[in-house]
Amino acid sequence: MRRITLPGEVANPANPPAGCAFHPRCRYAVACCRSAAPAWTEAAPGRFVACHRAAELELAGAPLIDLEPRRHAARP
Ligand code: SF4
Repeated sequence: MRRITLPGEVANPANPPAGCAFHPRCRYAVACCRSAAPAWTEAAPGRFVACHRAAELELAGAPLIDLEPRRHAARP
C-alpha cells in the first residue's frame, strides 16, 4: 500500500473547522464538506462511514459502497 502525506495542519479539536473536520486537508473535499458535517452511515454491517463522498469515491483498501439501500432501509 502506498502511503500519502496529508498537507496542512491537524485540526484543533477545541476549535474544529466547520463542516467535516478533515476538509482543510482532504484532497476530495467539495463545497458541502466546508459547511456541513457528514452524518454517520452504516456502509456494511458493523462498519460506519462519515463522508459526503463515500458513495462516489473508491480509495485504496476501501471499495466503492452503495449507501442508498441502507439509507432507505433505515427510514420508517
Ligand atoms: S466529507 Fe469526505 S470528502 Fe469531504 S472533507 Fe470529509 S473526508 Fe473529505
